[in-house]
Amino acid sequence: MDLDHLTKEVQERYHTLLEEGADPNEWAYAWRSEYNRGGFKAVDMLMDEVVNPGKCIGCAACVTICPVDVFDYAEEKPVAARENACVYCELCVDACPVLRPTDQDIKSQIGLMEPVKDEGFGGYAYGVYARATEKVWAENGQDGGVCTALLLHGLKSGTLKGVVAGEEHAENPQMGSSMLQTTAEQVLAGARSRYTYQPNTLALVEAMKKNIAPLAVVGVPCQVDGVRQQQHSSIRLDVAEWYRQNIGLVIGLFCSESFTEKGIDWLAEELEVPKKDITNINIKGRVEIKLRDGREEVKSLKAFGKYARPACLYCMDYSAENADIGLGGIGIDGWTFTVIRTEAGHKAWQALVADGWVETKEFDEEPKGKDLVARLSIYKRNRPLPALMPTLPEREAIGNLDPKNYYRGWEPGNSPREWRPLPPPPPKKKKAAAKKEDAA
Ligand SMILES: Cc1cc2nc3c(=O)[nH]c(=O)nc-3n(C[C@H](O)[C@H](O)[C@H](O)COP(=O)(O)OP(=O)(O)OC[C@H]3O[C@@H](n4cnc5c(N)ncnc54)[C@H](O)[C@@H]3O)c2cc1C
Ligand code: SF4
Ligand code: SF4
Repeated sequence: MDLDHLTKEVQERYHTLLEEGADPNEWAYAWRSEYNRGGFKAVDMLMDEVVNPGKCIGCAACVTICPVDVFDYAEEKPVAARENACVYCELCVDACPVLRPTDQDIKSQIGLMEPVKDEGFGGYAYGVYARATEKVWAENGQDGGVCTALLLHGLKSGTLKGVVAGEEHAENPQMGSSMLQTTAEQVLAGARSRYTYQPNTLALVEAMKKNIAPLAVVGVPCQVDGVRQQQHSSIRLDVAEWYRQNIGLVIGLFCSESFTEKGIDWLAEELEVPKKDITNINIKGRVEIKLRDGREEVKSLKAFGKYARPACLYCMDYSAENADIGLGGIGIDGWTFTVIRTEAGHKAWQALVADGWVETKEFDEEPKGKDLVARLSIYKRNRPLPALMPTLPEREAIGNLDPKNYYRGWEPGNSPREWRPLPPPPPKKKKAAAKKEDAA
């Protein structure tokens, strides 16, 4: 039986909702209303609406929620390798954070700790600047080594049996792969940030197959949002249930954007070193680079910014608003800006503090930190929703792939619809013509 027309009907319903300006929290009814009638081939919709228009942020939620392994994952996006296996469950579209905003219910489902404040960077109970007391972890960590300390503490105390995070590539340490970690050595080897895209959550499938739980997931905000959509999908099937029951701690890393592998190639060329000698990159308003021989170099963020990943334009979350604990490198150098959001986060944090594994400073010691996190978060929160943004080919046509500076014309308080895409840059003048014009 040819059921393709059903997919088209759902897509039409979805587009009608978008065009009529329906509440974005209702967009998901375009597919949920079909579920009780037997479903439709959701993989086709995901490809048409998200992947083929170049709007996929690569979170891998569709890949890891699919109960029949329809997808492979390559070049930071899903590939519908076995689409005929689709069982019409709709989980992939329901988990995708690009098709619609994350479900409103998620805020209550993740168990935010009361009293909840929101000062512009998502609901949270309390926060501090923190640093691991074990010097090596603090020094080897990206900022204060807090993420590493949390994971090691969980594994040592037995509150965690595994960690979904990532490992760096030996030949190009600024690129990484997802990894299921079960030992302290693996956690330590994976520490520090790689500012390229590392799809940590792909390792969820291995964790589920091996039934490794309780599990912590570390991820940038797009991955956190994907995990939460998987855990709390209203389509109650076994895979979603496993994630709901067994992911005990979600640690979110703040993120403005990530960068492409070409950016690392460019840095290596600029610095005249092999890529394997770039041991760390940190972005603090400028690009700070550590080399294997101990040298430290700096490059302008404007120059490196050309290699920002175009897909990151479709991301609305800076501060991992749906994580149990949010971590960032803002405020005091060498310390991690730490936000405790949920009861689960509070439990893990208090255990760490009680055992003296971290030292802390109040946010008041550097008040600019909170302001900056709020500013960066609000900037992303207020973008138009990805479904309402231009596609990648449309952006290519106007010559602007920059995820950070794509829009202008918006002021706080205006509707997100008042964003205007930046005009294309003027065509480059040929040198001789430019000289003649200048002389005139
Ligand atoms: C792509 C990217 C962009 C970021 N942008 C910002 C930003 O704009 N502002 C800000 O304040 N902070 C940003 N961060 C977060 C910051 O770099 C630190 O990760 C955070 O402060 C925690 O530091 P730590 O010393 O406690 O972490 P560590 O103890 O060093 O642990 C780091 C953890 O991050 C995991 N990891 C490494 N690279 C990646 C990756 N690419 N994707 C997913 N997980 C990864 C590791 O596996 C490890 O578990 C970004 C991080 C990443 C990965
Ligand atoms: S954004 Fe995530 S869930 Fe959506 S298509 Fe891309 S990888 Fe899949
Ligand atoms: S900005 Fe960061 S969190 Fe958002 S899509 Fe890009 S890598 Fe993911």
